[in-house]
Amino acid sequence: MDGNDAMKLILPIAGFAVGVSLLLYFWPRPPKVFLTRERKRAQVADVYELSHDTKRIRLSLGSPTTTLGLPVGKHLAIYAPNPAKCISSGLWNGKPDPDKGKEEIERKYTPVTGNEQPGYVDLVIKIYKPGKVTMPDGKETHWEDGGKMGLFLDSKQPGDWIDVIGWSFCGRCVFFGSHMGLGDEAMKLGVRYFQINPHVSWKFIGGFSSPL
Ligand SMILES: Cc1cc2nc3c(=O)[nH]c(=O)nc-3n(C[C@H](O)[C@H](O)[C@H](O)COP(=O)(O)OP(=O)(O)OC[C@H]3O[C@@H](n4cnc5c(N)ncnc54)[C@H](O)[C@@H]3O)c2cc1C
Repeated sequence: MDGNDAMKLILPIAGFAVGVSLLLYFWPRPPKVFLTRERKRAQVADVYELSHDTKRIRLSLGSPTTTLGLPVGKHLAIYAPNPAKCISSGLWNGKPDPDKGKEEIERKYTPVTGNEQPGYVDLVIKIYKPGKVTMPDGKETHWEDGGKMGLFLDSKQPGDWIDVIGWSFCGRCVFFGSHMGLGDEAMKLGVRYFQINPHVSWKFIGGFSSPL
């Protein structure tokens, strides 16, 4: 085989290899998904005060193209340490600890952004602070401790990390919750966020809540 014959063989093979490489490189891949039903660490990207007791906490999904993996209307859970004061006294707001002295607590939150927003997820969190509060029935109540998770999240700054887990196996919870009153708070917070931020694009799924 002389040089010309070798080139005749090598050129098409090289062309084929380049073609396959380009195809593989540009082949559309499914976006990376953040929530995989496993516990994940998410970095706080931004904190925005919506009102005296409500904050929008933006969590980074790790890369600008990663999607949440949870449609709007479904919830995730956040972990936090049970406050030391609660573990040592066994009390929270003057009552036996509803978390039964566990080292770690978890609470559910319904993000106000979903898979349509790559790169980050927004949570709207109501923070129950300790102190005197006029309740909806007009009675004044003194909350000795406030809300555990709300206060934990209130202390977070951009750059801090938060442990979260996807809740996709419980996809119908928000649907049932909206009927049972459980999802109402989240729905109200979402609507409130939308009212305060009319520039933010918002997608309502279903008329009531997402029937999933
Ligand atoms: C499916 C689902 C989705 C949810 N989504 C959201 C969401 O998007 N955003 C959100 O903020 N919450 C959401 N919640 C509620 C959330 O899970 C927590 O229950 C809430 O944040 C309170 O948790 P905490 O640990 O701060 O309070 P806890 O320590 O668990 O409880 C304290 C409780 O005491 C009372 N309390 C304490 N201090 C005060 C005070 N100063 N004023 C009035 N009452 C007081 C409140 O009833 C409060 O719930 C959702 C719940 C569910 C089930």
